[in-house]
This record gives sequence, C-alpha cells and structure tokens, in this order.
Amino acid sequence: MNLTEQDTCPLIDYVTPDFPREVEYGYCHCRCGEKTNIADSSRVKWGHVKGKPIPFVFGHQMRVRARERRGAISQPEDLTIRHIALTKRLFAVVDAFLYEWLNDYTWYAFYSEDVKSHYAARAIWEDGKVKHIFMHRQIIGLSREDKMQGDHENRNTLDNRGSNLRPATTTQNAANKRRTKTRWLRGAHFYKHGGFTSRISINNRSVYLGWFPTELEAHLAWKAAAEKRHGKFMNID
Ligand SMILES: [Zn+2]
Repeated sequence: MNLTEQDTCPLIDYVTPDFPREVEYGYCHCRCGEKTNIADSSRVKWGHVKGKPIPFVFGHQMRVRARERRGAISQPEDLTIRHIALTKRLFAVVDAFLYEWLNDYTWYAFYSEDVKSHYAARAIWEDGKVKHIFMHRQIIGLSREDKMQGDHENRNTLDNRGSNLRPATTTQNAANKRRTKTRWLRGAHFYKHGGFTSRISINNRSVYLGWFPTELEAHLAWKAAAEKRHGKFMNID
C-alpha cells in the first residue's frame, strides 16, 4: 500500500516524537501487525478521522510509551535478576528467567493507599471495566479471584524475585505489612508519586534538596547538607 498525500496518518506529532512513520497506514502503530478499525467519528485527541483507519488497535497506544520506558531503564550487573520498567520512574526486580515473559506486558506503578507503597501492575479490560493484574500475583500464579494474597517477604513491594514472594492468607500478610507510622531514614521523605524527596530543616525552614529513587540516597543527601552546615559535631545518624 502506497501512501498518498491525503492518506498521511493524522496527528503524527500527537502520539510520540519518534512516531513510527514507516508503519503502513491502516495498521496499528505499535507495530503489532494488526489492522486497525475505521473511525466512525472524528476525535482529534485520539487521532481519529471519520472514515479513515485509526492509528492504534484499542489499548495499544500505551505500548509505545512503555517501549520508551523500557529503553530508558538500566539493567543491573547481576545477571540473575532483571529490571522491568514501570511508570513514575520506578522499576520492578524479577528473576532473569522470567524477564522475557513479563517484559512482554505493559506494566505501571500502582500506588496502594492501604500499604503505602507501589506495586507493579498491568491493566485488563473486563466486563466494561479496567482491572489491575499485579505482577507478583501473576508470578506465583494467583488469579484475580483468589483470596490468597501474595506476600513480599522483605517488604519491598517492587522486589518480585521468586525468593521474595510467597502466597499468604490475609492475616499472615497483615502481620508482615509495613506499619503505617514507619519512620524513614532522617531527611528522607516518602514521595507518593515514586521515590523519595530529601529535605533539611534550617532555622525552622524546610529546604528542598532534591528527588531520589531510594530512601538511602535521600538520607545521604540530607546527611551531606547537614554536615556542611553543622560540621562534624552534630549527631546526624
Ligand atoms: Zn498494536
């Protein structure tokens, strides 16, 4: 199929800067190879033009962004574990032998208000609703309906290595749940949207020192600032 002037795919810049222009018009732009539906109405925001093929198969838009996230993530030197990119600049740790299987899905960081931490999750469309499938449950083979919970032994809910996961009943899991009044390392403040911020109090004013992916790094930034200000005489651990 050759592209003509009128057949140029609409709203190319809307989707992503490195939009895959070589994808044939009429096929899904996530490059899955599936044909897309014809738009029954025009929706500028979605790149739909009435009577023309739409850019993506339903739900495939997010795959492009997910691919960008995967490309941006660094892998650990330890070859037995791999990182899987999530949203919010977070990643999950998995056993290397499960990496290809899991990395095929589009994952995001899901914040649990209850546990006060993030889980790796993906979305499915069921009964007209979006439902979350959690990566740790998928790994230990618990279905959505299963009452058993997946427990993270070391309490890091993004550490989905098999050695860290075990099925648990609700009460067992509650016993291992992070207490809500956890004290973070000094200077580190849990940031709901991912990672930690570092702050130091100077003359009763809170000064922002930056964002860090881990609690420890935020704490170290605080420590460096405190040392600079107070010298070695202050007890800052
Ligand atoms: Zn597709």
